[in-house]
Amino acid sequence: MAQTIYPVPQDWAENALVDEAGYQAMYRRSVEDPEGFWGEAAQRLDWIKPFTRVKDTSFDEADFGIAWFSDGTLNISANALDRHLAERGDSVAILWEADDPAEPHRAITYRELHADVCRFANLLKAQGIGRGDRVTLYLPMVPEAAVAMLACARIGAIHSIVFAGFSPDALAGRIRDCDSRIVLTADEGLRGGKRIPLKANVDAALNQCIGVERVIMLRRTGADVPMVEGRDIDWAEAASQSADCAPAEMNAEDPLFILYTSGSTGKPKGVLHTTGGYAVWTAMTHEYVFDYRPGQIYWCAADIGWVTGHSYVVYGPLMNGATSVMFEGVPNWPDPSRFWQVVDKFKVEIFYGAPTALRALMREGDDWVTRTDRSSLRLLGSVGEPINPEAWSWYHRVVGEGRCPIVDTWWQTETGGAMITPLPGATALKPGSATKPFFGVQPALLDTDGNEIAGAGDGCLVIKDSWPGQMRTVWGDHDRFFQTYFTTFKGVYFTGDGCRRDEDGYYWITGRIDDVINVSGHRMGTAEIESALVAHHKVAEAAVVGMPHDIKGQGIYAFVTTNAEVTPDAALRAELIKWVRQEIGPIATPDVIQFAPALPKTRSGKIMRRILRKIGENDVGNLGDTSTLADPSVVDHLLANRPHLT
Ligand code: ATP
Ligand code: MG
Repeated sequence: MAQTIYPVPQDWAENALVDEAGYQAMYRRSVEDPEGFWGEAAQRLDWIKPFTRVKDTSFDEADFGIAWFSDGTLNISANALDRHLAERGDSVAILWEADDPAEPHRAITYRELHADVCRFANLLKAQGIGRGDRVTLYLPMVPEAAVAMLACARIGAIHSIVFAGFSPDALAGRIRDCDSRIVLTADEGLRGGKRIPLKANVDAALNQCIGVERVIMLRRTGADVPMVEGRDIDWAEAASQSADCAPAEMNAEDPLFILYTSGSTGKPKGVLHTTGGYAVWTAMTHEYVFDYRPGQIYWCAADIGWVTGHSYVVYGPLMNGATSVMFEGVPNWPDPSRFWQVVDKFKVEIFYGAPTALRALMREGDDWVTRTDRSSLRLLGSVGEPINPEAWSWYHRVVGEGRCPIVDTWWQTETGGAMITPLPGATALKPGSATKPFFGVQPALLDTDGNEIAGAGDGCLVIKDSWPGQMRTVWGDHDRFFQTYFTTFKGVYFTGDGCRRDEDGYYWITGRIDDVINVSGHRMGTAEIESALVAHHKVAEAAVVGMPHDIKGQGIYAFVTTNAEVTPDAALRAELIKWVRQEIGPIATPDVIQFAPALPKTRSGKIMRRILRKIGENDVGNLGDTSTLADPSVVDHLLANRPHLT
């Protein structure tokens, strides 16, 4: 496919925190002298007791261990709040937009947020919650969710957020996995004009969890919900607590939170992050990736139920004194202009979103975007899945009117924050590539025998050495942690993703390793074929998997969703096959194209390819863990409409 390169705009090169030469120099130092580099970088935080050790890490089985700044102490809520009070106490920390555009927004200053966090921390303490206790949050995207996270951090409790779209069963599984004694929720959530019965879901989940002694419920909608005597209390009780709560002195390696991965490849893992390294990593990446300066209005549209919400709605931005926009709603309600209306309302300068939302909006046509102003936007970001070059170009041309760089950030729940990403003042962009490693990140590509591929090539993406934001364990199952990430290839962290590196040293994520298919001896990343399909003007979204093929070994099975106004038919099928042959070559010719009104997605919006793979393999007896599917009926529809039923 034709390759366009977008050079760094002049004003960015001149005014950003780092330009290309700056990036090169800092990157070199970060890998040649990690102790010196991270020892200095960590000075951005307020430490209670300064660390003397920087890095104690080994990925080898014999002396395996990951610890950063391990004799230092700090409190992340103090770093996100208290340290700003003198200089920026009256500037806005959280700018909240409700689901319903008619509901007034809220602007909460650092001083107010600090007081709310202290009060809620005191309420938690009054329930007997303290250091090391697990607190499950099942909350809508409201400021109180951030308050609760920071309150846990303030007293040393470990938060575990469960996305508020999950079912009672999925919630119960996560409560039990980490033995929470307390659950924080709301009467109802609001999303896209619909009410979500959060408290009723908690009640149902707790029938399966005997260990939960306390539920604190926020009144969001005022719905009449039953309260269990002796167990449930009202969030409003926090108001009568003292607005003074000293931050607990935490060791850098004390746990901060548990977060279950989105489950697109299997049973979710309870990823554990600790305090010091995560704080350094999220603050530093937030500042450099978004070139953030205090005063700028910044919006990460992720839900706090996902790691992106943890690192880039709450912790990273607040540690940097940012004004962080928090949005309760969805991109396409009341209409597909909503994102851009919010951008205009708050004069958002930096917008960070997911490819799944962009593809959905692209499908509705440009007019929903162009009818809004968006002149405040300076920088755009993407995260969660590979962004197809077609969607990238649309984002750049239509949303950003050609003036905003796009930072396509590759990372994982496990990595804590961005790992492979452009820096807007330093990196020329190639649509679809996450470009270059962040400071301290040493990616490598290995072939299936574990040999490192030098120069251009493609293979399994691993990271050779630890970085401060790395997860420390799988909650309750340290062996699973080691087995999952450090045994496929010895001595390195295995990401599970396939990746290509081009002649310029740019990284292109090609999809999960499991999604690399082998057609007549040619290894192909499914992302490339998907991008070719999405580049067709009638296609909105595509997912490609392998299928058994007598002659080729593996054939190509493509699931395709068309644009809103298109009727899929045999003629379109033929047209798409011809199109892919032209775009990539005959080797990529799809053997099967199944049209579908929607693709199966996790609740975080990622296509669940493992289910599609089973359909491609015609092995649909056991589809595995589907508890994280957003809409199970999508799968039923796919099963009922398979074109190659035998
Ligand atoms: P599970 O680990 O339970 O299967 P998951 O991997 O979907 O779930 P996350 O940690 O939310 O859970 O997702 C990380 C994955 O998302 C990465 O490994 C990668 O496959 C994909 N990803 C994230 N950002 C990007 C990006 N910018 N470009 C390409 N892929 C991305
Ligand atoms: Mg994963």
